[in-house]
Formats: sequence, C-alpha cells, structure tokens
Amino acid sequence: MKHHVLIVGAGFAGASVARVLAEAGHRCHIIDKRSHIGGNAYDHVDGAGVLIHPYGPHIFHTNSKRVFEFLSRFTDWRFYEHRVLAQVNGKLYPIPINRTTLNQLYGLNLTEEQAKEYLEKVREPRDTIRTSEDVVLNSVGKDLCEKFFRGYTRKQWGLDLSELSAGVAARIPTRTNDDDRYFTDTYQFMPAQGYGQMFRRMLDHPLISIELETDFAQVRDRFSGAHVVYTGPIDAYFNHCYGKLPYRSLRFEHEHLPDVPQFQAVGTVNYPNDHAYTRITEFKHLTGQTHTGTSIVREYPQAEGDPYYPIPRPENEALYKKYAELADKEETVTFIGRLAQYRYYNMDQVVAAALKAAEDLLARWNQE
Ligand SMILES: Cc1cc2nc3c(=O)[nH]c(=O)nc-3n(C[C@H](O)[C@H](O)[C@H](O)COP(=O)(O)OP(=O)(O)OC[C@H]3O[C@@H](n4cnc5c(N)ncnc54)[C@H](O)[C@@H]3O)c2cc1C
Repeated sequence: MKHHVLIVGAGFAGASVARVLAEAGHRCHIIDKRSHIGGNAYDHVDGAGVLIHPYGPHIFHTNSKRVFEFLSRFTDWRFYEHRVLAQVNGKLYPIPINRTTLNQLYGLNLTEEQAKEYLEKVREPRDTIRTSEDVVLNSVGKDLCEKFFRGYTRKQWGLDLSELSAGVAARIPTRTNDDDRYFTDTYQFMPAQGYGQMFRRMLDHPLISIELETDFAQVRDRFSGAHVVYTGPIDAYFNHCYGKLPYRSLRFEHEHLPDVPQFQAVGTVNYPNDHAYTRITEFKHLTGQTHTGTSIVREYPQAEGDPYYPIPRPENEALYKKYAELADKEETVTFIGRLAQYRYYNMDQVVAAALKAAEDLLARWNQE
C-alpha cells in the first residue's frame, strides 16, 4: 500500500527522507515554516553577488561512503579542506592545536616526537573524564586550555568548560604533526553549485510537493491520516509539556567588503578571547568563487533566538529522554534530525540517520 507522508522541515533530515520514500512510490508533502528549502544549510547569493550561508558556514565532511554517494546523485563537488586559525594575544595559530601551534606559540622547534613529549609534560591527567574541562586539561594542560578553549567555550555556550558534557571538547583533536586541516574525514567537499542547488535536485521528484512559510501547527489537522516525519524541535511538538529544552542560538552579522579580494588567510578565524563574536568566516574560501570583493560573517552566540545547538549537559539529556519516551508512543510519527533528536549532528550524520529512518519505515510498511 502506498502512503501519504507529511514531512515537517525541508533540511537535510526532511529532504533525505522525502527522496527515499518518494522513490519507493510514497507521496511526500514537505512543509517548512521558513521561506526556503535546505534548513540551516541553505545558501544564497547576497546583494553583491557572493554565495553565502545565511545560517553560518556549512562545510561538508564525512567518512560515510554511503552518505557521500547518496548526495552525489544531486550535486557535483568541489574539493575543499577547511582550515581554521585562532587569534591569541594578537597572533594567529593553527587550530586544532598541532606541532606548528606549539612551536609558534612558545618559540620552540619541537619535532613530532618532542611535541608528544611536550604535551605529555603539560597535560593534567584525569582519572575520570566527566566534563569538557576534564577532556581539555587531560590532553593539553592549563595554559593551552586558557588560551584556546575556556574563553571560546564561555562565549559559544554561555557556560564554563566544567559545566559542559565531555563530548563537546572531545570533538576537537590535538595533533603533534603539522596537519592543519580542521577535519580529517575521507570525503571533504563542498557542493559545486551550492547547497540550494543540491536541495532543489533532491526534492525534484513527481511524488514530492513543497509548501513553504507553513507551520506544522497550522496544517496538522489537514493531514490527520498521513504518516508524519517531524524534523523540528521535539519539545515544540509536545507543546513543551515537560518544559523547554535549552538550545543555544546565534546572531549572524553578514558584511560585504567591496574591493577587498581576500579578508583573511583561511576560511575561518576563531577569536577565543577577544570580541563578543566567536569567529569570522570568509565564504569565498569555502566556495572557491572569484569576485572583486568578499563577504564575511561574524557569529555572536546568544541564549534567545532560533534553536541552533542542543546544549549537551546531563540534565538536558535527561529532559530529552522524557520527550523521547513520548515520541516512542507516537506510532504514526517519525522523529528525525538535529532538533527532533536533540543531538549535535553534523550534516552527514543527519543524512545517515534519515536514510536509516526511511528504510525502517519502508520495511515496516512492507510488512503491514
Ligand atoms: C552555525 C552552524 C554551523 C554548522 N556547520 C556545520 C558544518 O560545517 N558541517 C556540518 O556537517 N554541519 C554543520 N552544522 C550542522 C547542520 O546545520 C545540521 O546538521 C543540519 O542542518 C541538520 O539538518 P536537519 O534537517 O536535522 O535540521 P535543520 O537544518 O534545522 O532543518 C529543520 C527544518 O525544520 C523546519 N521546522 C522546524 N519546526 C517547524 C515547524 N513547526 N513547522 C514547519 N517547519 C519547521 C525549520 O524551519 C528547518 O528548516 C552547523 C550548524 C550550525 C547551527
């Protein structure tokens, strides 16, 4: 039997599920409360003609051949390895910390072996790793922690390192070689014509229809018989009945600089200790676009605003579990994606989770 599916959210989660279900013959209607598809990965050309990411820089990287092959059906790729520098006391250093960072910061000339010994000497070993502070002190010790991590974390999350779950800092490696790439995944590419184009192709299917600027709450009743794939915030779905799940938000300050061919040496520069913003990204590095001017974005973290980052703390995870229990009882609703699963997912992880969710649904329907 073919189903009618209502998909709430046209980001990576919603679009991937829609494509798989439509190809299996099920009719999918996607709604999004925003005026565009693509969710937070949406990109568009600004007033000066530069391709920018309105919701902050999105760099695609994955180790999953399956995810890469799935998305490759809808886009060509541009090879791009992201590099980040951090400004500390007015100078720029590679981040993640590597041998170059140590040598330049401390005026040393360490070999790879000596860099290992150096970190071994300065690290503060912890028996139990509970918080992000434990992770950082355990791997690089106090001075590097203060210079590169504590201030950035305080700005980004509004919390001290010691108040954040270990998983946040564990995402950032420390290296003793000269590898200055931000990611080391097997596949590191940007969609050659942008994310918008990739999403348009993914959703271009006769069984997929799209309705923008439409909130789930408005159309819920119209689709009472349909299976729902919900990719919005899980607490909003249940009318915040257990209280609001905390999210961190951001304010993006976009700027075009005419007649400045290049603003900074790499895609992103972090400001752990200076300014109210955490980082500046220059889009032309990511997209490879040539233009006489350049466009940049400054990110100001804030408590209020659109929900961007689930805040990884044990009490928030406990609250999420209560919502997840309610979600389990909703047999005709699939909750998937960064907001519906309250998880710090990258784009590729969302796609992987969405492909799996769609396949599980198809398997279930085949048995009915
Ligand atoms: C600043 C920033 C930078 C990032 N950088 C990277 C990066 O470099 N690399 C990477 O891999 N990942 C990055 N990510 C993560 C990436 O954005 C997510 O993994 C991905 O966008 C999640 O897709 P999603 O479909 O789950 O959610 P979203 O993209 O958030 O899509 C959900 C959609 O649902 C819609 N929606 C919500 N509620 C409703 C409702 N009630 N009715 C109708 N529509 C609704 C929303 O409008 C939204 O469009 C970044 C995230 C942020 C915030």
